Amino acid sequence: MLSRPRSMFSARGFATLLLAAAVAVSGSVSALAQNVPVVRDAEIEALVRDYARPIFKAAGLANDGVNIVLVNDQSFNAFVTGRRLFINTGALMMAETPNEVIGVIAHEAGHIAGGHQQKLREQLERAKTMAIIATLLGAGAIVAGATTNSRGLAGAGMGVAAGGGEMAQRSILAYQRTEETTADRSAITYLNATGQSGMGMLKTFGRFQSALSLSGAQVDPYRISHPMPRERIANLEVLVKQSPYVDKVDPPALQQRHDMMRVKIAAYMGGQAPATRLMRKNPGSLASRYGEAQLAYLYGNLGASLAKTNALIKEQPKNPYFQELRGDILMKANKPKDAADAYAKAVSLDPARSGLLPVAYGQALMAVGTPESLKKAVVQINNGLGRDKENAEGYRYLAQAYGELGEIPAAELATAEGRFYSGDYKNAKIFAMRAQQKLKRGEPGWLRAQDIINYAPSGKIKK
Ligand SMILES: [Zn+2]
Repeated sequence: MLSRPRSMFSARGFATLLLAAAVAVSGSVSALAQNVPVVRDAEIEALVRDYARPIFKAAGLANDGVNIVLVNDQSFNAFVTGRRLFINTGALMMAETPNEVIGVIAHEAGHIAGGHQQKLREQLERAKTMAIIATLLGAGAIVAGATTNSRGLAGAGMGVAAGGGEMAQRSILAYQRTEETTADRSAITYLNATGQSGMGMLKTFGRFQSALSLSGAQVDPYRISHPMPRERIANLEVLVKQSPYVDKVDPPALQQRHDMMRVKIAAYMGGQAPATRLMRKNPGSLASRYGEAQLAYLYGNLGASLAKTNALIKEQPKNPYFQELRGDILMKANKPKDAADAYAKAVSLDPARSGLLPVAYGQALMAVGTPESLKKAVVQINNGLGRDKENAEGYRYLAQAYGELGEIPAAELATAEGRFYSGDYKNAKIFAMRAQQKLKRGEPGWLRAQDIINYAPSGKIKK
């Protein structure tokens, strides 16, 4: 299972805690950045963006769209820098409804609008995505480690954070109680403005507030950064229940997408057991049948998987992600030409214009392997990277496609870009210099190589 590197849902997920510990100990973000467990998935990113967009609009934030960064970690965390929303897969799994996620996003938007941790946010805004995640995970590891050493959570965990001694980590871990109240009030304002209930937020925070959440081995970073005394929850409850939208539930189509997302995360991250547990709650539903198709694919039952996916496509012919899954199955079955057709459909059906789908399409075209399909692959992968320039994995395929076409300077420049966006600046510079030697001084590729050579990671978070 999980053999396709493209899906980026990978076995790496289970190394999360180890990685976090390594980051905390070594203190070097960039050296480890390429191992940071970011999950890329067109469907989930589009859904979370759909959750966030109306809230951000109501809060007067980020008109030009939000980048969703999915962190493969089972704990609960969510953090917004301004144009990037970081959210753990664990937070998405825990939420039974879209409203629970939307409530947390509304609260985070309240922190931004309130100017809380403004300096840190500005610093993070300049930093590369990977470096931020390493910091977030590092902070979690320090907290978790301290807790097992039974130093306890006294002082709202702040002593623990100070033990890390780092400005960034301490700040990430420190909202003040007054700020929490402000963010709660703002969240209710945004939810009211978008006609949504605050019950999901109340449920989520209430869960943190209960003693139960302390007993687990894993400490949710979110719980540490957002103090949740009983009176705060009580005050929030009053506000939520005053809203005219308190009983409003999520639209059924959105709930269905949410259910499909949860089954997908369970299947790809946890495998058979957690996915089946989730599917059993709603047998025969679209989400459950999607889960069955995914499990069959992940466990190599390609015939069954294809049949199930074709049935899903028949039911929702315009769903780009069913076409994507069909493409994944056909790739695994060594039918790249058919896979390319499926991905092409996925690209044309995708209203969110994800950069990932054209890259998948390009990979299938590469596997077809004719000079003509290789050229098409380059076009598609460049198209995908144009939409999503931080996709380090995409550059790897681009480099390979250029290489197979014999376009060596372009291949080297693509390799440099890939290393650059993984945070491996040293090798990025080496490949950029190699590319430059074969490029004409002043042409676009040469200039881009020069940018990489000149790059000084000033936005780097000091550890
Ligand atoms: Zn908060």
